[in-house]
Amino acid sequence: MSYQVSPIGYVRSCFKEKFAIPRQPQLAPAARGVLELCAPFDGGDAVQGLEQVSHVWLLFLFHQALEDTPRLKVRPPRLGGNRAVGVFATRATHRPNGIGQSVVRLDRVDKGRLWLSGIDLLDGTPVLDVKPYVPYADSVADAHNHMAADAPIRIEVRWQDSALTQAREHGMRLNEPLVELIEQCLAQDPRPAYQQPQPERRYGVRLWDVDVHWHYPQPGCIRVLAVTVP
Ligand code: SAM
Repeated sequence: MSYQVSPIGYVRSCFKEKFAIPRQPQLAPAARGVLELCAPFDGGDAVQGLEQVSHVWLLFLFHQALEDTPRLKVRPPRLGGNRAVGVFATRATHRPNGIGQSVVRLDRVDKGRLWLSGIDLLDGTPVLDVKPYVPYADSVADAHNHMAADAPIRIEVRWQDSALTQAREHGMRLNEPLVELIEQCLAQDPRPAYQQPQPERRYGVRLWDVDVHWHYPQPGCIRVLAVTVP
């Protein structure tokens, strides 16, 4: 039996590519976006009362990771990418039905738009549903997850002076906390765990409309080299 679902809206996000998106929401509070609701949800009725809520659950489609054949085992980056575990024990993007879920901060509600922060969603992500976060039910005081016990270790992010100036200027132009966004995302160390970064190797990612370039001058440390508009 199959069921059909349709997006209720799409996210316009700071993240233009999958690389360097934090692996969970809340890890980069400066990661912002807007959920643009589709008709008939964009007239105001569907979001009435949501202004009383600080956080929402987003249920969405990993639209850039959909696969025809479901995987039973996956190799989460969290485990170094070389240990396979059951897909239902992970939050991997490759999963049956391709459904993701994230708790994000709701900064503002307009009738057809929800302004969000702390997101881990790619630009253009189709959203299937929005639900209010309910602290007494959704926060489990004695919960444990031995595979992902703590937030990922953050690495040090340094700036080349010129790059920091560029990031500040583009942040003002975009009216976005760009310096914080770059620091919070790079501190998660986006590089795949199997890659040993050489200091001469350059990495890059697009955030909003700017390209961010960095390298690893030494293990456990990133230096941002340039923040430019292509
Ligand atoms: N918080 C969600 C969950 O637990 O279902 C997502 C967790 S998943 C491990 C996070 C990763 O999903 C991000 O690092 C990003 O690379 C990827 N991602 C985000 N939006 C996506 C999309 N629309 N399609 C494919 N991958 C996406």
